[in-house]
Formats: sequence, structure tokens, C-alpha cells
Amino acid sequence: MEIALPKPDGGQPTLHDLDAALPFVDRHIGLSPSDIESMLATLGHESLEGLMDAAVPVGIRPAADLSLPPAMTESQVGALARELAGQNFPGEPLIGLGYHATITPPVIRRNVLEDPSWYTAYTPYQPEISQGRLEALINFQTMIGDLAGLPVANSSLLDEGTAAAEAMTLVRRANRKAEGPFVVDADALPQTIDVVRTRAEAMGIEVVVADLSQGMPAELVGVTICGTLIQYPGASGRVLDPRAVIEATHAQGGLAVVAADLLALTLLEAPGALGADVVVGSSQRFGVPLFYGGPHAGYMAVAKGLERHMPGRLVGVSIDSEGRPAYRLALGTREQHIRREKATSNICTAQVLLAITASMYAVYHGPAGLTAIATRTHRYAAVIAAGLKALGYTLGSESFFDTLTVAAPGRAAAIVASARAAGLHLRLVDADTVGLSTSETTTHETVEKVLASFGPTVEGTTSLDLDELDRITPDALPAELGRATAFLTHEVFHTHRSETQMLRYLARLSGRDYALDKGMIPLGSCTMKLNATTEMEPISLPGFADLHPFVPAEDAAGYHQLVAELEGWLAEVTGYAAVSIQPNAGSQGELAGLLAIRAYHLANGDTHRDVCLMPASAHGTNAASAVMAGMRVVVVKSNDDGTVDLDDLQAQCDAHSNDLAAIMVTYPSTHGVYEEGITQLCKIVHSHGGQVYVDGANLNALLGHARPGEFGGDVSHLNLHKTFCIPHGGGGPGVGPVAVGAHLAPYLPTHAQHPLPEKRSGIGPISAAPYGSAGILPISWAYVRLMGAAGLTKATAAAVLSANYVAARLEEHYPVLYKGENGLVAHECILDLRGISKESGVTVDDVAKRLIDYGFHAPTMSFPVAGTLMVEPTESEDLAELERFIDAMIAIRGEIAKVQAGEWSHDDSPLARAPHTSRSIVGEWDRGYSRETGVFPAGIDPDKYWPPVGRIDNAYGDRNLVCACPPPEAFAD
Ligand SMILES: *Cc1c(COP(=O)(O)O)cnc(C)c1O
Repeated sequence: MEIALPKPDGGQPTLHDLDAALPFVDRHIGLSPSDIESMLATLGHESLEGLMDAAVPVGIRPAADLSLPPAMTESQVGALARELAGQNFPGEPLIGLGYHATITPPVIRRNVLEDPSWYTAYTPYQPEISQGRLEALINFQTMIGDLAGLPVANSSLLDEGTAAAEAMTLVRRANRKAEGPFVVDADALPQTIDVVRTRAEAMGIEVVVADLSQGMPAELVGVTICGTLIQYPGASGRVLDPRAVIEATHAQGGLAVVAADLLALTLLEAPGALGADVVVGSSQRFGVPLFYGGPHAGYMAVAKGLERHMPGRLVGVSIDSEGRPAYRLALGTREQHIRREKATSNICTAQVLLAITASMYAVYHGPAGLTAIATRTHRYAAVIAAGLKALGYTLGSESFFDTLTVAAPGRAAAIVASARAAGLHLRLVDADTVGLSTSETTTHETVEKVLASFGPTVEGTTSLDLDELDRITPDALPAELGRATAFLTHEVFHTHRSETQMLRYLARLSGRDYALDKGMIPLGSCTMKLNATTEMEPISLPGFADLHPFVPAEDAAGYHQLVAELEGWLAEVTGYAAVSIQPNAGSQGELAGLLAIRAYHLANGDTHRDVCLMPASAHGTNAASAVMAGMRVVVVKSNDDGTVDLDDLQAQCDAHSNDLAAIMVTYPSTHGVYEEGITQLCKIVHSHGGQVYVDGANLNALLGHARPGEFGGDVSHLNLHKTFCIPHGGGGPGVGPVAVGAHLAPYLPTHAQHPLPEKRSGIGPISAAPYGSAGILPISWAYVRLMGAAGLTKATAAAVLSANYVAARLEEHYPVLYKGENGLVAHECILDLRGISKESGVTVDDVAKRLIDYGFHAPTMSFPVAGTLMVEPTESEDLAELERFIDAMIAIRGEIAKVQAGEWSHDDSPLARAPHTSRSIVGEWDRGYSRETGVFPAGIDPDKYWPPVGRIDNAYGDRNLVCACPPPEAFAD
């Protein structure tokens, strides 16, 4: 790094200058001043400002510079984060309702959650370099499938509430005959009921919330229904035997969904064994911190025959080029479920990092350890229940797993307050009822404090001997539902018991993966930039990590300040009036934004406006979200230069003038270009009464240089896991805030348990927790505080510079498909391989896999245009790394030329045979190119990354679907 210290008149730098001499922005932006200078020279521009002036259309430049607090140093931001965390009061959370205290084993916390080799990885679309996290995810699927008692589970959903909503749409899809209502257990988690309702309303599905404790209620008997959702155990703690309702559901033409607590399932019979078709829930209490509501991995398991209807990603086993088992995403590589309007759901980013954490908790504890934790949790609840009864209280249910509902007429608030004074958070159900849930962290002291908070009733005893109570109190689990089916029998759940073994297992798996700790990941549209340690550290602070989402508002003051600041800054940088950070992925932000548009039209009496226009190049989630919002998708054509065809847009607007709801347009476009026509596009749509949804996933090309809310957008979602430094986590977590103009602000997501009363009713929740994935918001908050307005503005320019530099250097080797007015791209560029492929037979897949031999993660393949590679270097890479990539791409072009010249046959070229594993350095060599060319194309490198498997056969894996851990013998040589 070059440090230029200004010299004031006195000669020596001032203390202010010295304080500012090592700004974070120079750590975040990988390019040094001299890198920037030489790159600008290559492009023929004088300065970053000059480059941006040429690239960004005049019509969308912002009216003023960003107004954000000044940049702070890393240590200042760290201190401020600790101060905010200190203003939250986690106490001992016994509130329950799907969120439970848990102990993240430190070996997992430090070596997964806090380890960049896990958290900086991308979604495993390139399976050869993702075997570690794919194994961890198949462990997750196996764990879920076993506990649920169903054969196929996916590799995570966004949270329990959305998993239940996805299950509702699944049963509707899988079961086209059943047009009737979806029946929801009145004892389901309240936020689950609300998330299901929000979704159902837009899709026109009728939801009936009913008391299922006596079986199917009389008014529903004989009615055709599409399905039921049963909570197991219920929110009240009651454990309903679900068999009667499941049988009735099947008899009435529906499918049965059970929302189950994973820890309880170690003691209670698997819902699958009781007849459930779909099981959903959260894996949070398997070692994932509460995080004030998220991120946590939701899960879904399905019965045989339903796997092709399942939303989310599914990891499967296939074979590689050497015939050995290898993992990869099953059923069509890329987002099999996001098939535009035929999508099974809009989920793209899921919760991979948290699913891995939960699966490792099960790997570490094994079935016996989990059962011990569950038994202990249950016994504490049983002893508390016995104590409360001795004190004279009545319980809502005599059988339970961990949750009690206690009648305390007129005294509930006083009891909760007294517990709070002792450091416990209990659940205030209503004025006469208190709820509480025990957990892995419950101790004798907890029991004493709980009983003391309740105190004796008039009839109750005043002295209790806990040990005596423990001895005489029997279990309170329903005998007829005792777990009989085995679970976690696979070897992986039995072999990593010591911390040494666990540490090595984690390191072995992450060592197989290519993440940002190994090199650049130039994935277009994904913005794989630096996730700075200073940004990451605060998420582990107990004040942020251990807070329950439903604690009283005054116990979350630090979070509220952080959220208010972040929402305010996001409104400022996007030019919108209001922001909600509730959506926990970009896809959910899209849905929230479209629901706001829908509600706005309805409020204006425009009930017929349901057409959503969409350019042909839109991201798959866009169309899927529109369908979920109850809209009809109409595609708008593109011109040959990739821009939206404004004539076609005009024609579509004319044709749909009366029913136009919105257009969804990505800016800069998914083609990586600043389209000049965007302001015109917004005008046309507005003139027909439509709203403009600007997909803001590409904000990394705009920050500080244009504001969607200013150039014509009514609503945008942003991806904090792209532009704002939340790590991709191997496929999640993410945050997809939705930002809206003032006219849409009344229709932002709400939540019945929101700490702010004015945000409790309205459109309903889009995710299970009021602030969605609150626990990772400190990352983006810290990023903005570290960079300040000038830093963010410069980062955008550096990202655009890097993309244009790569485009310029590679252009003579691979055509750059689309460019803007001045021959410039935005923050990414599309390399067109179609001509080259046609002439040589070498595919984009070959190039992507060959890049692995050169030590790179492939760019985005075949999106948005089939047969192309989309490169997004981001601002965080240094010039040497960019050059290494450029050299690799040029060398690969040379290899393709050899195939074209007939020197190598395609089949026997290092391209078709890529990637090369370490096995290819030994044994016979009978190929048309040398071993050195195969394995060390960029020269001998002691630090070379070796893919653990050769090219994976996708078709084989889909023909032979295996989505649980294969037996160890399968890997024997
Ligand atoms: C990444 C992306 C999305 C979806 O975001 P998720 O967080 O993965 O749901 C939507 N649109 C565009 C243009 C994107 O690049």
C-alpha cells in the first residue's frame, strides 16, 4: 500500500492526517493507486471520475453527493459495535416459539461460523470445487430426513415460517385436484400462521386456522382441502398425536404438513412414520445462535414422489470422470426450482452456512448426544412443571416436550416482569397466561429463578426441594408417541466425537473447497467482494448473537439503533423514502416489493392491475416472485445490443394499459450495461399507471453514482450479501432489504410481534422474525460506517474500472457481448464463447472446469445468455490477481486454438478432461497432452489448489437420485 501523507505548512503531518493515514477504504479496495493509474491508462481515461462520467448515463446521475456519517477506523467501528451490542439484554431466553437458546460448540463457532474458508464460499454450482460444503449439506439432508422420517430433504430454506408457506404451495402444486382451503393448526407458531397468510392472500389460497386438538373440526369434515399444517409440538407446548388429522387430511384429498421441532424429534416419533407427507421446521436450536431472529436454516423433507415439487436446493450423489462418487446439486444444475413462471418457488439464496452449522452440531454430538440434550431439556421442563403445580398453578397441557403454558389469572405480566428482573425472558401469552420453554442452556439456577418469579399461589406450598422433585417427577412425554424409529445411523454421525477429530473433519472439508480465501471468485451478478474481518466480528458478540427475537423492545435497544441507522443509510444511497430489512434474501425482497405494489393498486381501487412486465434477460427469481405475488408475467423483448426494446415496451404498455401493475427491471441490466433508456422506460410505464420495480442486486455498479429512487424507480430490493459485504456463506445467509418511495411505504412488511407498535399490522410478515436475519446486519452496518460516502463512491468506481479492464484485456481473445454508449461495461462483462464453441467444440463448461486447473473459480456460466461467461471482478481484487485471471483466460484461449487447429482432439484435450485431480500425477499417462500441461498449466505451483474430484456426471446423478449420505464403502478405492 502506498501511503501519501500530506505535509502542511509546518512541515510535519498533523495528528488528524496521521489518524486518517490508514483508511479502511484502502483495505477494502484491492487496487493500489498505481494499479488504478495503470489500468486507467490502458482504458484511456484520466481519472476514476472521468471513467464514471463516461460510463454512467447523464440522465441518472444523482442530484447530490451521498449524505452519510464520516468514515471511521476499524477499531472505532469495533468499539461502537460493542457498545451497541452492550445495549441489548439477551438474559436467559425462555420465550420459545421456535427460537431456543443453544450452545454453539466453540470448535464449530470458530471453524465454521467464523472461518472464511466456510463463510466466503459461493453456492456450489461448480461442484468439483465445492465437495466440502456439499458433503456438509448432504449430512444436513440426511439429518433432516432421518429425524423427520422422510426419504428426501433439501439443503435448507429461509426460516420456519417461509418453509411452512413453501409447504403450502407445494401441496397445492402437487395436488391439483384439491382446490379447497389449507387448514392451519391454531396451535402453530403465531409467526408461521402470519407468514402463511401473507403468502396465501396474494396467491388466492384460502387459509382456515382451526383447533385440531380433537381431530378435524366438524365444520371441515367432508370438505375437500388441499392440505393441513400441524405443529408438533404445538406453540402451547401440547403434543398432539397428529395421526387422526393426517388420516382425515388424506381422506379429504389433501396432503399433511407437520412443522416439527428437531430436538423434540429425538424423543418423539418421526412425523413421516406417522403419515406426514411434508415436514418443515427450523434447525436453529442445533447450535445456531438466536441472532435476534435469524439467520437460521429452515428445513423441508418430503415423502417419495414429492421431491420434484420441492423448493430450494437438493444435494445429490453422482460419479466423477474417474467413476468415483461425487456430490453435486441434483435435478438440473442451476436452480431447478426457479423456472420463471413455472417455478416451484423463488428461493435462490438459502441458509447454507447455518445448515452446515446445524449439521456439524449433529455430527459432533451424534444421536446419543442429541438425545441426551433433548432428555435434559425435557427433564428440566418436567421439573419446572412439577414445581409450578406444587406452587398451585395449572398447566395448559399435562404432556409436553419443553414448553409449558401456565395459568396465572391476572398475574402474568407481574410474573414476566419479576423473571425479567432476575435475568430471565418468559413469554407473556396474555394477561392470564405465561409461557416458557427450556433448552440446552437451562440449569438448576434457571429452575429456581423461574419458580421464584411465579411464587406460591394461595393454595400452593411455599417450600420446594428441587432434588426431591426431580426424583419423584416422571417424564411428561406422551407415551404413545415415543420415538421408535432409528436416526443418524450413518457413520459420519458416529466418528467425530473428540474435538481433535472434529477440528480435522472441518478443516478437511473446507480444504476441499475453493472460497475467497484461495483466490478471486469472478461471478457475474453475485458480487463476491471482501467480507472484512472487522465487519464479521460483531456478529459473535453475545449482545447480538444471543438475543431472542421477541424480547421486550427495551431489551433490544442496540439492535434498534443499528437497524434504524442502516435502514436510513440504505434509503439515502438508493434515493427512496423508506426501507424494511425484514426480507431474508433478495428473492424475499422482490416478493415484499411486489406485494407493496399490489397493495397500492388495490388501495387505489385498481383491482385489475396484475400484469408484470419483465425483460427477457431477467433473473429467474423475478418471474417466480411475480407469480407468488399473484401477477401475470409478460415478457418484453430485447434489442440486439441487449437493451430493453422500448418499442416493444410501448406496445406492451399500450396493450396492457388497464391491467398494468409493474415492470421489473434490473439496473444496470443483467447484461452488465448502464442502459441509457432507463429513464424513458420509467416514464412509459408510469404513464400507463404501472409501478417500476428496479431489481437492485447490481447496486455495486451504482452506489454513489446513481440512485434508483431518483431516476424513476418506485421500489427496489438490495442484496446486502452482494453489495454490502455479507458473505455468501456457500449459498446463504443473505438479507434482501426492500426500499420504496413514500407512496408505497404504508405497504412494507409488518410483523405482529414487531418491537415498534406502528409496524405490527398491515401487509403481514414476509419472514418469521420482525427483522428477518437481524444477526448479520452488523456486517453491512459496519461496512457503511467504515467506508463513508466517499469510500462507497470510490469502491463503485473501482469495481467498474476492474470490469472494464478485464473486458479490455480479454476482448481480443473473447468477444465482449454487450457494452454501453461509450464502449464501456458496468461492473461486470459477458464474454461470448458461442462462436468459439461452434468452431472448436469446446464448451463454456470446459472453460469453467479448466479454470480450476489454473487455480480459479469460474465466472457465472450461461446467465443471462447461454454459452457465455459473465465476469464480475469487484473492487476488492488487486491488479496482480486480475492479471493472473486474465493470463489464465488467454492461455485457455490458446488451448482452444490448439483444438481448433487439430493439434488436440476436443475429447482428448486438457479442456474436456478438466479439472485434473492429484490422482493424475501418478500412474499411466496415455493422453494427447503432457501431464504437466494437464496439472500445472500455469507452471509448477507448490500452493496449487487440487480439486478433490474430476468432472462430475450430472445426468448420471439425476437418473440415480441419491440425496442422503452414501455408505462409506462407496468411497473405497
Ligand atoms: C442475486 C440476484 C437475485 C436474487 O437474490 P437472492 O438473494 O439470491 O434471492 C435477484 N436478482 C438479481 C439480478 C440477482 O443478481
